Amino acid sequence: MPATERTATVPAAVSDSLKPFGPLRLINRFATLGTEFFTRLPPQPLPAPYLVGFSADAARLLGWSPDAARDPEFLATFAGNTPLAGGDPLASVYSGHQFGVWAGQLGDGRALLLGESDGPGGRWEIQLKGGGLTPYSRMGDGRAVLRSSIREFLGSEAMFHLGVPTTRALCVVGSDAPVRRETIETAAVVTRLSPSFIRFGHFEHFWAGDKYEALRQLADFTIDHHYPHCRDAANANPYLALLSAVCDATAELVAHWQAVGFCHGVMNTDNMSILGLTIDYGPFGFLDGFNAHHICNHSDTQGRYAYQAQPNVAYWNLFCLAQALLPLFGEGEAAIEQAKSVLPVFTTRFAEEIDLRMRAKLGLRESHADDEALINHLFKLMHEGRVDFTHFFRTLATLRIDNPDADAPLRDMFIDRPGFDAWAVDYRARLRHEASTDAKRAIAMRLVNPKYILRNHLAEIAIRRANEKDFSEVETLLKVLSHPYDEQPEFERYAELPPDWAAQLEVSCSS
Ligand code: AMP
Ligand code: MG
Repeated sequence: MPATERTATVPAAVSDSLKPFGPLRLINRFATLGTEFFTRLPPQPLPAPYLVGFSADAARLLGWSPDAARDPEFLATFAGNTPLAGGDPLASVYSGHQFGVWAGQLGDGRALLLGESDGPGGRWEIQLKGGGLTPYSRMGDGRAVLRSSIREFLGSEAMFHLGVPTTRALCVVGSDAPVRRETIETAAVVTRLSPSFIRFGHFEHFWAGDKYEALRQLADFTIDHHYPHCRDAANANPYLALLSAVCDATAELVAHWQAVGFCHGVMNTDNMSILGLTIDYGPFGFLDGFNAHHICNHSDTQGRYAYQAQPNVAYWNLFCLAQALLPLFGEGEAAIEQAKSVLPVFTTRFAEEIDLRMRAKLGLRESHADDEALINHLFKLMHEGRVDFTHFFRTLATLRIDNPDADAPLRDMFIDRPGFDAWAVDYRARLRHEASTDAKRAIAMRLVNPKYILRNHLAEIAIRRANEKDFSEVETLLKVLSHPYDEQPEFERYAELPPDWAAQLEVSCSS
């Protein structure tokens, strides 16, 4: 499935008929699976809620106009204080591998599926994150804090506008209700939208419990609603086709991540979407200075989820999914052989996708045998000099084939300037080889190399202001990040390199 289908925007005709906040036509297909899959329960009320952030773009998916958030009922609904008419709130159960270890049952410990919109904007599951205790909360309090909710809100909307498959975020609602983490913080609820919130861990749950009928039911549900082509006559076994489709979607997803310098931070199997969407924004981060081994999650002491490890971890996670689906592939060794024959789809597709994206970042139209060496050489130099990932690729569009004397803005980013010069000789030769023209290449490169990304320090400034009840920076950041590939002269400062204090910022699993 192409990424555009998974992150579909609303057709123009729908934008013309947007309505103020009001009841939705709701369905809840997940609820038809039966109570083995979830527990019905309402959200826990959030005292004295206020609006912290709102995405008019996401509201459009539900058919609502940009002023929907002004309606007091909007706030009450997405605080979890007023039920969404026709909704059927539930928390789903899943399991998973966390940091490479089987963690047993997890589940929506603080997320509640309110229902699924079925309007002209399409079908979107609507989920509150931080909506209170559920039977799967384990030791947690069912709440989310303001800082992590703002990060998830901005992170998911920023990723959408970068063109990366992701769940969406409608709004963040805050409250002064205290929440205990390392210190006392305040509570918030993020409303997320996704075609589905099913994770690899949902399948692992029923596999681990030897509940193979439920496993089949879940796989059938996923195929029927999200991967119908898996039932094509050409596929002897639709479940193998499902595994193949998920390998494909995950490969595309992780290639996107690598290309924009996104680190997820907690790629546990319970945080892997069956649709290949970025899901569960916790201690995520974008690369600043390029470090292939960058670890964005302070809790990840071993670097299991470091930037460069993400493709292999994705494969490891797909292996877990394949294992969970084995009972649907056949008996014994034969089933294992079937799974083994499908998993390499990830490797092949990832290689294709990353090649495509990296070449596009360099403004190369054609594919040549030496490209990998050229790209690897560049990344080695960038790694050694901790060259800013976003800044470098954006600036690379200014390179002039016939004027190496004008390379200063680029070469000055490197510690090893002669090293950069040597690379630039090869790069220029490669550009000449395909008769690249400066102006056309620059336009193409600016469409794939963002100028504006959600750097940690930008999120941090917005969070600090929000803690003082000033939410204007959340709004401004959302505005800037909604056009990451455009020049926005009035927001030039949002494209600057991180200040020194940003190096001290730590983002952990605590949220
Ligand atoms: P995460 O690492 O955020 O993906 O969370 C792993 C598991 O812990 C999931 O089952 C979450 O629902 C659960 N969880 C995380 N934080 C909380 C919390 N504050 N209250 C209840 N459950 C939580
Ligand atoms: Mg999670």
